[in-house]
Formats: sequence, C-alpha cells, structure tokens
Amino acid sequence: MVKEDYKGIWVFAEQEQGILSPTVFELLAKSHDLKAKLGGSDEVTAVLLGSDVRGLAGRLFEYGAENVIIAEHANLAEYSTRPYANVLAGLAEKYKPSIFLLPASPTGRDVAPRVMCKLLTGLTADAIDLDVDEDGTFVQTTPNFGGNILSHIAIPERRPQMVTVHPKVFSPLAPVSGATGRIITETVEVEADSAYQVLESTPRVFAGKPIAESDVLVAGGRGIKTEEDLAMLGELAELIGGQVACARPLVDCGWLPHEKQIGQSGTTVKPKFVINFAISGSVQYLSGMQDSKCIVSVNHTKGAPIYDVSHYGAVEDYAKLLPAIIDEIKARKQA
Ligand SMILES: Cc1cc2nc3c(=O)[nH]c(=O)nc-3n(C[C@H](O)[C@H](O)[C@H](O)COP(=O)(O)OP(=O)(O)OC[C@H]3O[C@@H](n4cnc5c(N)ncnc54)[C@H](O)[C@@H]3O)c2cc1C
Repeated sequence: MVKEDYKGIWVFAEQEQGILSPTVFELLAKSHDLKAKLGGSDEVTAVLLGSDVRGLAGRLFEYGAENVIIAEHANLAEYSTRPYANVLAGLAEKYKPSIFLLPASPTGRDVAPRVMCKLLTGLTADAIDLDVDEDGTFVQTTPNFGGNILSHIAIPERRPQMVTVHPKVFSPLAPVSGATGRIITETVEVEADSAYQVLESTPRVFAGKPIAESDVLVAGGRGIKTEEDLAMLGELAELIGGQVACARPLVDCGWLPHEKQIGQSGTTVKPKFVINFAISGSVQYLSGMQDSKCIVSVNHTKGAPIYDVSHYGAVEDYAKLLPAIIDEIKARKQA
C-alpha cells in the first residue's frame, strides 16, 4: 500500500427505502471543512448503493458532494451486510480514498468494520469530532472508558482512514438548489447473501416524533421518583409542543424505550429548547445534548454538573416546580 496513492474524502450515502440518512448531509458538510484544512485538493465524494437510487444524487450534490459514485443492483435494494461490505471494499480498492466517513448508525456500525477488515486498514468507531492537527494529520475524537476520557485517534500508516461518526455532531451546509457534480456509475456484480433470508420486515413505530427531530424536549433522569411524575413530564411536553426524552436510568428501569434516551449510547440531540428534570449531567448524557440552543435544568443539588452547560437553572425539587410550571402555562393559555 502506497499512502500517497490515496486521495479524496468519501461519505457513505446511507439510504433506506430511498430516504437518505440526515447524517450523510452532516458528514458532507464536515468533509468540506476537512478538505479546506488538508489543503483543498481532496474531492468530496458520496458513495451511494441501492437499487433505483440514482434520483438521490441531486440531493447529495445540493448538500456538498462534488462526485457521486452510484452502484445499483437488485441485491443492494435492502441493506445486507456482506453484499454492501463487498461492494464498498471493492470500490475503495479501485478509487483509493484517503478518508472514508460513515454514519454511526446501525448500518454504518455494521458495515464499517467489515470493510475495514477487507481493506486491512484502521477504523475509529463512534467519533464525536473530526479535525486536522497542525502536522496535517487527520484526527478523530471518540469517548472511551465509559466516556470518562476523550481519545484523539490517528491512522498514520494505513488507508483509507475510516471513521463512523455520531449523528448530529455536525450541521449540514445550507442546500444549494440545482447544484450538480460528477456522477460515476459503477456496474457491480452482487451475489445475494445466502447465509440468511429476510422473511418479514416491520417498520419500527415511534410514539411521537423521534427526539433527534424535535425542537423542544422535556427530559427526565433518575431523580424522577414515580411514573405519575413521568406522566407530568409528558403533560409539560405536550403543553409546549415537545417530546419527552430521558437520561439512561429511565430506560434501564423500563419506564421509557431506548429511542427516548439522550447521550453517548442513545441519541445526540440539538433542539432549540431542552428542559432537564433531575438529571445530574454525566459526561455520557452531556455529550448527547450540550449543543442544544437553550438548556434549562432543574436539580435540587446545587453544583450538579448539568449546570455547567445550562443557560438557565433552578436549584429546586422538581416535584414542587414541575406542577407549578404546568399550572402557570395552562393559566396563561386560558388567559
Ligand atoms: C458506556 C456508557 C454509556 C452511557 N451512555 C449513557 C447515555 O447515552 N445517556 C445517559 O443518560 N447515560 C449514559 N450512561 C450512564 C451515565 O454514566 C450516568 O449514569 C447517567 O447519565 C446518570 O443519569 P441521571 O443523571 O439521570 O442520574 P444521576 O446521576 O443519579 O442523577 C440524578 C440527579 O437527580 C437529582 N435529583 C434527585 N431527586 C431530585 C428531585 N426531587 N428534584 C430535583 N433533582 C433531583 C440529583 O441531584 C441528581 O443530580 C452511560 C454509561 C456508560 C458507562
């Protein structure tokens, strides 16, 4: 492997049933930042796999792709580990990208390590930041040891430098309507995965909007004492047009499903407004919400770490404050 032969930044254009993952747009935006820091000569390429997905190329150009490599085949219609890994590895061997970014989604997390093994390269999992250091080295930041330290990882010898990146850590570029670029159509032979057979697939039904898409969140933590109190969080969320979310203990105790969990092992959110009730502010929780526009926290412990990232706070028992807030909003709505 000759490092110098590898050039360009790739983004895996993950799509499901013709809908691109929003993280793809975030990664395209970050690719432009990396490109500038690397001297400007690395082209940003989206790699799109599927069946009948050519129509998505326009959106990829609008959000910053300079090239789109399209590999279509009936056996790529649904995501399947081995066919996708084989095609991605084959394309990377042919085109030799220097950097290869994938969403840290279930699909990205599944396919990336297999591509890494095929290419005998390095992969950083679940990065929460990407940068280029003063020596021009591409560096990936990821939480380790339960989120207690942040590791800055470089892949100095092998190419491509592969990374899966948490959703919502970067913001997409404003789309440029009608933007175009180079389309590279790849003819691929893809064998169906004979190791298993999909008998049925059932779309996951979310109660309400996914928390990552909600502008307003009302989040509860371990300090919430009863399910009746949790219902009050729901009432407040409804009154202010938001969704309930939570720190991990409320998922662990079975009160809320995992898709409501904010944080390192949950969902990264960036709402316009989030109010935290009885959440201490662990690094794992904060890493999933600290970029929210307005953060309000209610905790009866003065000096709880959640206040370090909060714009407003009340040192108070939530059981006193929460009903009072609900009553006040109801009264104002009726006035
Ligand atoms: C690998 C790994 C990944 C993890 N991922 C996540 C993740 O994605 N998301 C996540 O949330 N956690 C995650 N955790 C767990 C994390 O370390 C913390 O344990 C968790 O965030 C704590 O949640 P909490 O703030 O609700 O609970 P606690 O830390 O127990 O805090 C409860 C808070 O409630 C306050 N309180 C209690 N009663 C009241 C009251 N009546 N009124 C007002 N305030 C009150 C207390 O003062 C306290 O600050 C992860 C851990 C590991 C090891």
